[in-house]
Formats: sequence, structure tokens, C-alpha cells
Amino acid sequence: MHSDRTPASSDSVTAIILFSGGLDSRLAARLVADQGIRLLAVHFTSDFLPDRIPADVSGTTAAAAAMGMELRTTDITDELIALVENPPHGYGSELNPCIDCRILQLRHAREIMARTGAAFIVTGEVLGQRPMTQRKGMMRHTEKEAGVAGRVLRPLSARLLEPTLAERAGWVERRRLCAFSGRRRTPQIQLAEQLGVTDYPAPAGGCRLTDPGYALRLRDLLCHGGLCRADLPLLPIGRHFRLGETTRLIVGRDESENDMLSASARDPDVLIACTAHPGPTSLLRGESSGENLRTAARITARYGKGRDEAVVEVKAWGAKTGCWNVPPAGRNEFTPLLIAGERGGSCGAGS
Ligand code: SF4
Repeated sequence: MHSDRTPASSDSVTAIILFSGGLDSRLAARLVADQGIRLLAVHFTSDFLPDRIPADVSGTTAAAAAMGMELRTTDITDELIALVENPPHGYGSELNPCIDCRILQLRHAREIMARTGAAFIVTGEVLGQRPMTQRKGMMRHTEKEAGVAGRVLRPLSARLLEPTLAERAGWVERRRLCAFSGRRRTPQIQLAEQLGVTDYPAPAGGCRLTDPGYALRLRDLLCHGGLCRADLPLLPIGRHFRLGETTRLIVGRDESENDMLSASARDPDVLIACTAHPGPTSLLRGESSGENLRTAARITARYGKGRDEAVVEVKAWGAKTGCWNVPPAGRNEFTPLLIAGERGGSCGAGS
């Protein structure tokens, strides 16, 4: 459990800040650090974030260091997979279990509080900015579920919320905090100018779990045996076909995707490409029986330059090797197998 001892003054108080490195968390950090609070920054990362940029490359480490904060990075991919498979509080607009994800993050922060003797938690949340998690009632609920009720200070909206322990104890002055609400960014940009915060990153793509196309492919996996961490890097790339209950084909759309598919192959995956015509590399994952292999070869040939030939030569390597002459698939022959287009899954996952 977290420490309940009460530091005598703000000079001796440490807080944990959930630090994404974006503008809101940088401003929240400044508003609290400027009142003499020592901050320990925690950065959560996962394979559901676009491009999985390491904190030191994205500038988060440098931003924390510039503010004098130690930064700890915590990978929550495996815990998020479990929540995507079974979210106690349900999903948001797609397969994003945001309420449970926030509870998870606050629980991690609570554990760090217990280990470090920190007195409270700071976040860059803004009331009303996100419909699912940033409503007053839900903020109270997530704190309670995480075992940190009353200990989460949200400096950007604090004057619109109940006073927290940090304010009641006098460690931070409430009047020096903000009363921002809603999705408009203008107040934060103005505050950044006032505080001289200039080097913040532009808003990034955000968590892929909220992306409809990504969620469609994820939903397909949930309906066919569940999630595996090794599948996650493949979800944003290529065209995906469902060839059987346990079998998928992913067809590269350009050279970089072809390279990524080649690099992602693991036993017993099969890689497929045309030998004499430029075209995609495809990855067959699952049951690579004769019929699936032939279908995969014909689909691969369909997306190559030899698509109008009567037959093209296709090679396979990896768990199966060989060369075959196959007729390229017809224009819409395998469209029903394509995992794209309509939203929703047949098994009801995420609906
Ligand atoms: S958008 Fe993704 S990372 Fe953010 S709270 Fe929701 S599930 Fe978690």
C-alpha cells in the first residue's frame, strides 16, 4: 500500500507523474514542480502504440531530464492484452478498454508510490477531454478501483474538481492550478507560452486500439483463438485474409511492408512471393496445408505484376519450401476472405 505519512512541507514531498511526454503531461509536471514538489515520472508504453517509439527517441526521456525528473518506463502490453480479451468495464468506441487501462496505470503508480514513499499521483488529464475516462464520476471511480482515492491531482483541471490530498495538506496551492475542461487545446497552448514550454511534440496518432481498421483485424483474432503478442506488429500492415479458423494470410502492400513481413516470420510461418514478376511478399500463419498454401500463392500472385498471366511461378520458404505454377486469383475471387471493410465480428467480440 502507499505511504500514509504526511510530509511536513512541500519541500520534502515526492509525487509520481504519469508522463506521456505530450503537452498536457509536461504542463501538469510544470504546475506541480513549480510549487516545490519533487516528481518521479512514469512512462507507460505498449505494442498498441504506433511505431513503438522508445522513450529516449521520442524525446520523452529528454523532456523528463530537462525538468529534473527521473523517468521510469513500464511496458504494459501483456496486461493490456488481457484487458482487451476481457475488459471488466467494457470497450470504448472500438476495442479500447480505456477505463481498465487507466485503473491499471494508476495501480502501477500506486505500487511505485509504496516503493518510493511518494505521497500522491499527478496526471495531465483534462476534465471532459475524453468521453470515457475523463468525466468527474469516472475519474473518482478509477481512483477508487486503483486504491488511490483522493490522491490523484490533475493540475490542468484541479479547480473544477474536488480538492485532493495534495491540496488539503497544503503541499500545492489550489489557486496556482488550472480550471481547463473540454477538448479545445487553446488554453493549454496559451499556458505553454506563459510557462515557456516550447519543445512539446505535435499530438501523435495515439493508441491503435481506438482505430476502426486496426480493431477490425484485432476483433478477427479475438474471434479465432485469441491474441498473441507476436501477432500485434502484423496488425497495422498489409492486406489480411482469413483462410481458416487458425490460418491468416498477410500480403505486403509495398517494399517496406514486404520487409517487415519477412522480418516478422517465425516458425512455422511460410513466406510466399512470385519468382519472375515483381509483387508482394506474403506471410502465411497457421495451417499451411496444401489447400491453404495454394490459395495463399494464388492471392499473392493476384497482387503481383503477373496478375493477368494464365499462370505465374510462386516460391515459398520458411516452414514450407518449394516452387509452383499457379493461376493468379480472379479479381474478386477471394474478397469474402478479406478482413476489411465492414465493421463488427461474427463472434460479437467488442460489440
Ligand atoms: S486509448 Fe489505449 S492507452 Fe489510452 S487509455 Fe485507452 S486503452 Fe489505454
